[in-house]
Amino acid sequence: MKKSTELFLAHFLYPLLVIAVLAIGNMIISRINTGDFLTYFSKLRLYHWLLLSFAVFLVFIIGKLTDTSKRNPALSMPSMGPIKSGRPTYRELGEHLYEGVLWPISQRTDLPANVVPSPEDYRVEVPPRCPTCKTDLDQRKIFGGRIVWSCPRGDFQIVKSSNYNVFQETVQKLVRGELRK
Ligand SMILES: [Zn+2]
Repeated sequence: MKKSTELFLAHFLYPLLVIAVLAIGNMIISRINTGDFLTYFSKLRLYHWLLLSFAVFLVFIIGKLTDTSKRNPALSMPSMGPIKSGRPTYRELGEHLYEGVLWPISQRTDLPANVVPSPEDYRVEVPPRCPTCKTDLDQRKIFGGRIVWSCPRGDFQIVKSSNYNVFQETVQKLVRGELRK
């Protein structure tokens, strides 16, 4: 979302929405209880208006806080340092041959330009790929609880003790270990 749109939503539209919802709620209750949409408006006391103003004020403050944390991630998440808030994004870097298959390796892309990626910024993805044609492998259970990892193209298959998600973390540890050397 564009910054200007966010500001508009937080500072203008959300408070307006709250007023609209409260007003409509008031009208519906008024209609149910008195048969007239507007009767309750004339019965509104000062404290009703104070409550309403307070609700609008709260929404405004919440909007303001969300906006501040977006602009200034270091402020809301001091432990994260200069790294942007939200989910990290990754881009594929290459493949690592392990257990006879190719494991895609991704690198984090949302780091600031001046930060050198650490081994923890690399991730091993699943499914692993066929070492012959690089197609994503399928897996299926066979007799005896063993798992076959096979290429949908039919040019490769290998029997393993468990599914490839179990191997993912091990491969990731090995790759990160390599990167620390
Ligand atoms: Zn293949």
